[in-house]
Formats: sequence, C-alpha cells, structure tokens
Amino acid sequence: MSLFGEKCVRCGARTRNVYLDKPTCPDCAAALEVALAESFEAKRACPADGSTLKKAIAHGVIIDRCEKCNGVWLDAGEMERMNAEVAEEMLRATAIGRPYA
Ligand SMILES: [Zn+2]
Ligand SMILES: [Zn+2]
Repeated sequence: MSLFGEKCVRCGARTRNVYLDKPTCPDCAAALEVALAESFEAKRACPADGSTLKKAIAHGVIIDRCEKCNGVWLDAGEMERMNAEVAEEMLRATAIGRPYA
C-alpha cells in the first residue's frame, strides 16, 4: 500500500477504497455492485411502458430504474432501507437551525 493508495483495478484512479479485496474507487465499486446485481437478477420490464429496467444505486440501495419514464421500482425491503436513510437525512436537516424548546 503506497502513500497515495493503490490504482483502481477498473479505471486506474488512485484510491484507498477496497472492494472485494481489490483497490477499487468508490464510483467503480458502486458500478461493479450494479453489474453484479444485474448478472444474477432477472431483467424486469417497466409496469408502465414495458421497457427493460436498469439497475442503479440510490441512497446506497440498488433499485430498478426505467430510462423511458424515469419510474423507479424497488424490491421488498429496499424501500424500508431507503426510507430509514432518507428519514434520517430529513431529521438531520430539520434539526439544523431549529432551536430545541
Ligand atoms: Zn475506478
Ligand atoms: Zn417506464
């Protein structure tokens, strides 16, 4: 491990981030996670227009997104995970600047 970190195995950028025991920058790690999810999950069609849904990461959760209508579809449990994170962010945001009574 050098002072400036290792080279990302995917894009060559210097990074200290490690994914699956290999130096991988955070962007590439996220992209690899999406590719991994796509490889073992069956492709699904958008319920609204039948377009093939693409995997994406939002709030640290892998989601199915339709590029045609921008609809977002979640697996069971994904919404709960996202809600908890979003709720936490909202709580933090509303707490700032509001004096406690
Ligand atoms: Zn990279
Ligand atoms: Zn759609």
